[in-house]
Amino acid sequence: MLNNLKPQAPDKILALMEEYRADERDQKVDLGVGVYKNAEGETPIMRAVHKAEKQVWENETTKKYAGLAGQPEFHAAMAEMVLGKGYPADSLACLSTVGGTGACRMGFELARMANPGTKIWVSDPTWPNHLSILKFMDQDFTTYRYFDSETRSVDFDAMIEDLKGAKEGDIVLLHGCCHNPTGANLTLEQWGKVADLLQETGAVPMIDLAYQGFGDGLEADAAGTRLIAERLPEVLIAASCSKNFGIYRERTGCLMVLGSEETKKTVQGNLAYLNRQTYSFPPYHGQALVTRVLTDPELRADWEAELEDVRTGMLELRQQLADELRKLSNSDRFDFVAEHRGMFSRLGATPEQVAAMKEGNAIYMVGDSRINIAGLNKNSVPLLARALIDAGV
Ligand code: PMP
Repeated sequence: MLNNLKPQAPDKILALMEEYRADERDQKVDLGVGVYKNAEGETPIMRAVHKAEKQVWENETTKKYAGLAGQPEFHAAMAEMVLGKGYPADSLACLSTVGGTGACRMGFELARMANPGTKIWVSDPTWPNHLSILKFMDQDFTTYRYFDSETRSVDFDAMIEDLKGAKEGDIVLLHGCCHNPTGANLTLEQWGKVADLLQETGAVPMIDLAYQGFGDGLEADAAGTRLIAERLPEVLIAASCSKNFGIYRERTGCLMVLGSEETKKTVQGNLAYLNRQTYSFPPYHGQALVTRVLTDPELRADWEAELEDVRTGMLELRQQLADELRKLSNSDRFDFVAEHRGMFSRLGATPEQVAAMKEGNAIYMVGDSRINIAGLNKNSVPLLARALIDAGV
């Protein structure tokens, strides 16, 4: 039986990490995998999360199974963070999932259960795992144009033109903020126009919110999602706690499904069913940490302060890189780096140029020239800028 299996292509980003690790050059720069790193190249446990962990350890008296759909207090804290105080609790169903990836997967599954003929619209480009999950599910999907590779900003007219083709009951997947891989995001005005179009077509928005707090701030990064939630009757939101709480390996995420008071109970039952059929109970520990951090005023204030430092640190690196490139190129054609938001930017280098920077400068980035801004520090920014110019980008 087992010899029927075909080898799977290795994950490109993980393969790049391996290559980086094996590179023996002293001065090497890893801009590959999407994990936040501080100036020392470390991914520390956030202060408030560490304190919450101690409290959980001290207070936990059992390891019995917890909620099948997750913990209601986690759902409430997440709904408030994402949708704001006064969110429509009576029409919101929530599911704790295995990370944001699990939330995406369960969202796709729920959409398919509700409408077996649904087609899923994803941005071109998008996080590669969206595509591979959809292919694995044998789920019908298509792409809409999103990124203008000349200006390195959103090609909004093309996006709207393509999304006019979405039908009632289709799912339109949108990145809530900090678009991965491009770093180019919708303005609030553009979110409004997307909402208008979705209202016209009857397509259902699904928002992947994996970087809340990494772009313009906790509240600002949720603004597009909130606008959509206020305007559309049905919305799916796949939120990840991996980045903003720095709890990648705890696998913590939440799928929120906004419908009506009438649909809530059935939706909630279907969500629990999905967990049950897939892995039964979701991981508990990360939910407990996030709930504590969000609901204890002292922990929350400290977490928000640290998250803000993370965010502004990345913005400073963006500005430094844009300034350096302005000097070296004697032009403003790289200013987009400072305008992008989140952990990533797609620089617009060709695969050959990306390979040349790896060979010649030990600078590792994903083949589509996506860089992780947090992989830089003050010393490596000039190295990257020089390498980009020398490679002819
Ligand atoms: N969506 C996007 C766009 C992402 O970049 C990621 C993380 N790479 C996720 C979802 C999910 O992350 P996780 O499963 O680690 O929470």
